[in-house]
Amino acid sequence: MFSAVESYAGDPILSMVGQFAQDPRSGKVNLGIGLYYDEQGRIPQMRAVARAKAVLHEEQVPCTYLPMEGDEAYRRTVQRFLFAGQDGDHIATIQTLGGSGALKVGADFLKRYFPDSEVWVSDPTWENHVSIFEGAGFKVHRYPYFDPATHGVDFAGMLACFESLPAGSIVLLHPCCHNPTGCDPDRDQWAQLIELIVRRKLIPFVDMAYWGFGEGLDEDAYVVRTLAGRLKAGLICNSFSKIFSLYGERCGSLSVICSHSEEAERVLGQLKFTVRRNYSSPPSHGARIVSTVLQTPALCAEWQAELDEMRTRMQIMRKRLFSLLQSELPGEDFSYLLRQRGMFAYTGLSAGQVAELRETHAVYMLGSGRICVAGANENNVQQIASAIAAVV
Ligand code: PMP
Repeated sequence: MFSAVESYAGDPILSMVGQFAQDPRSGKVNLGIGLYYDEQGRIPQMRAVARAKAVLHEEQVPCTYLPMEGDEAYRRTVQRFLFAGQDGDHIATIQTLGGSGALKVGADFLKRYFPDSEVWVSDPTWENHVSIFEGAGFKVHRYPYFDPATHGVDFAGMLACFESLPAGSIVLLHPCCHNPTGCDPDRDQWAQLIELIVRRKLIPFVDMAYWGFGEGLDEDAYVVRTLAGRLKAGLICNSFSKIFSLYGERCGSLSVICSHSEEAERVLGQLKFTVRRNYSSPPSHGARIVSTVLQTPALCAEWQAELDEMRTRMQIMRKRLFSLLQSELPGEDFSYLLRQRGMFAYTGLSAGQVAELRETHAVYMLGSGRICVAGANENNVQQIASAIAAVV
């Protein structure tokens, strides 16, 4: 019966996790997957999360089904936090299974009401964007984004592409800490893009997986909050996987910005229906952790301080890697490491150089040359720099 089923090649990022685990070399370094590691090379349990778990343990809340749209307190708190208390009557927010779940529910919802629209993602992007939108039945195109000559954003190319799109086209945007390049438009460029999106009646689908890893929570939410204030149609999703170190709890949200509150009510109904026929309702434990932290001032302050520590550590690692590489290879320019932001740096190393780094130096990174800077620490940063210098 299933003889025609093809084998699945696997996801390149997730496959690398297995390959790394099986590598017997003691000095191996994993800069592949987008996980935050602390200075000791561990995936942290955040202190605020541990405290929230203790509170929930004491409360002994029964584990019943959540509504299709998720936990009420979570939805309210996340919406207020995302949009900094802007009046949310025209925004329909649901709890989702991480950022991926938000993308999937949003994509299914859009396909139903905009069946002829096509989707545009940055070139390059997190490859699962393409799979999720294609899986929802969309034709997916790429807009110019990364300029290898400057190691920055090809803003003119991006603008020209957006200008040429038909009204109703869906544009996937990373509002901060672009994955995989670490390159973001600046504030002036965002202002131009937002003006263009409004004028050309494009539908922005904003995916914020690294909120707070760029400059800070308020600074990184600039695009999301500006769009929410200006737009009458747009989707915003966010993930708490990285910024709460809660990957496996699957915590995220999807917000659909509407024209007015009555429209938002109807949209919320259709989001619920989309959830109902996908997975019925989201899991509760992670959402309770996140909303407990966000609603409890002392825990929220503690979490934000920890998030600041994570961001600062990654910035320090960028500077360390930059100065070590610059002294190993004074003829090369590694200043892009300092300009790119968030969890990732896009090194421009070729697939051959990446393979040599893995095989000869036990340093793992993606075939595209993307490195997760959180995989670097004081113990391995010299080794990483020397290995990169050896293959360049
Ligand atoms: N969007 C982007 C840009 C991502 O990098 C990721 C995670 N790598 C996601 C969405 C998915 O987030 P989650 O793990 O919460 O599903």
